[in-house]
Amino acid sequence: MFEKCSRKSISENQVRVNTNKGDKYYADLYRKCRKRIDYLRKKDNFAQEDFYARLAQEGISRRDFFKWISATTASLMLPVSFEPLLAQTIEVINRVPVIWANFQDCAGNSEALLRTDGPTVDELILDIISLEFHELLMAPSGEAAEQQLADAMTTFQGEYILFVEGSIPTADNGVYGTIGASGETYVEHITRLAADCAAIVAVGSCATFGGVPSAAPNPTGAKGVMDVVTGKPIVNIPACPANPSNILGVVLLYTMTGELPDLDPLLRPKFAFGTRIHDACERRVHFDVGNFVEEWGDEGAQKGYCLYKMGCKGPFTFNNCPTVKFNRETSWPVAAGHGCIGCSEPGFFDKFGAFEKPALYDSSYNPASDVFPVENIVVNGGK
Ligand code: SF4
Ligand code: SF4
Repeated sequence: MFEKCSRKSISENQVRVNTNKGDKYYADLYRKCRKRIDYLRKKDNFAQEDFYARLAQEGISRRDFFKWISATTASLMLPVSFEPLLAQTIEVINRVPVIWANFQDCAGNSEALLRTDGPTVDELILDIISLEFHELLMAPSGEAAEQQLADAMTTFQGEYILFVEGSIPTADNGVYGTIGASGETYVEHITRLAADCAAIVAVGSCATFGGVPSAAPNPTGAKGVMDVVTGKPIVNIPACPANPSNILGVVLLYTMTGELPDLDPLLRPKFAFGTRIHDACERRVHFDVGNFVEEWGDEGAQKGYCLYKMGCKGPFTFNNCPTVKFNRETSWPVAAGHGCIGCSEPGFFDKFGAFEKPALYDSSYNPASDVFPVENIVVNGGK
């Protein structure tokens, strides 16, 4: 028997937990959001977008849109009274300018944002955000691109959110990554871009914790943004790639409140990274009773048993993959039959390098506990 762990049950649980913040907290937050939305409505240097016309054009009904609003409000850990505010936020979401900069990366996070066929509500919203600069998506290149970046930074000085994809090479004075005709190093580039932004959102494992470019022996001295930039508010959305739903969640919350979401000690938004993969996994009941897949394709695999012995790092990984999922919420890696490889944790990929070998842990581990003794993990096999 599988333990059913639907998005609805997780969301309800999150709201119940979060409601502990109390009525006054939410009343104050509601007022603050109301003021912020009114302020954004009055800003006039942005194109008017009729979002509902776009929805109709793409064949998405209002009913489906409001179902999406309900699910998203819950997944952002907000009470139902915020649903109308969230709908109004989408009407002004293009009034928050975004500059997206790429560094040492494969552009996989940008690729994850690009739609493949008919768009979902998430994709439509990401389509209408005010993306003022994105090397991969825009037409200009060379000097014209540099001019576009300079114009965006001047026009929206102090207002833009700086999205960063990729790690920053710091070794040997940063010579391993340069950009533009002047040979500006990536360290100089991010320092300049960060100086006038309102906040930084580091997207993907490389921008957050260094990711694959920082794997041993890390010849370029690759680092995540938070280890290079100081004095700016930073949100980390790790994973390889970051789930577009989590990127959208941060943009929605920032647009609505004017502030960054609640963060954990690793600067990850709690609404997305507050739960361990292992605790929301549909195979968890098998872990608890000791039903494991022992080799690929065996009877346990066919019965959907736990993948721990096949290398699943779900017990060590915080992310909302089991509830938010991928590919239009159809599936996620463990549902598809392969263990989690821990892509959203610091230390990926060295610490969790042996994808298909189990991690070992000492006897102090209690599977029912919220605290996992990560420092005691010895990965079997290494790189
Ligand atoms: S070890 Fe992996 S497959 Fe098994 S219950 Fe945990 S997350 Fe799910
Ligand atoms: S299931 Fe694990 S490896 Fe896969 S995307 Fe989620 S955190 Fe990363």
